Amino acid sequence: MRSKVALYPGSFDPPTYGHMNIVERGLGIFQKIIIAVARNTSKKSLLSPEERVDLLRKLFKGRRDVEVDFFEGLLVDYAKQKKTNVILRGLRTVADYEYELQMSFSNKNLNPRIETIFMMTESKFSHISSTIIKEIAYFGGSVKGMVHPLVEKTLKTKLKERTR
Ligand code: ADP
Repeated sequence: MRSKVALYPGSFDPPTYGHMNIVERGLGIFQKIIIAVARNTSKKSLLSPEERVDLLRKLFKGRRDVEVDFFEGLLVDYAKQKKTNVILRGLRTVADYEYELQMSFSNKNLNPRIETIFMMTESKFSHISSTIIKEIAYFGGSVKGMVHPLVEKTLKTKLKERTR
């Protein structure tokens, strides 16, 4: 099957300019990208899956080539449901590589038709990670230039709620 649709799965807690860059560049290759927000992640999250989906939908509002959805359970099952065999992921560091390699092997074992395509980060986004952004925001630092202003605002509100 030749796929024109790629799944871009992740936690997106919160979505960053690094994630958005992967989507934009991915659209240079694929006709459509489905951003799939993991509902069941073992990572401790700041934003709920609903808040993350809501933010991503706002960030890509009006874009017919970008769909934002939740997924739970196995990614290979979700891919089948979405009738695609392509998973798009971003790579920044060697640490990313090791984790991504394991994940891609696991997905391939579960379904040999699944292909994971990796896109290297652009150097200006290479230092951006959701984890670092949460830490900076938590300690009151500025995350300007790393996330969209809408995300910045949501983080501020969320952290204010938490410290109340
Ligand atoms: P996960 O929890 O599944 O790793 P993330 O939301 O952290 O999900 O990331 C989703 C994908 O986006 C991963 O492939 C990750 O490597 C990639 N990614 C995250 N930040 C960047 C960035 N700054 N540049 C390129 N790719 C990135």
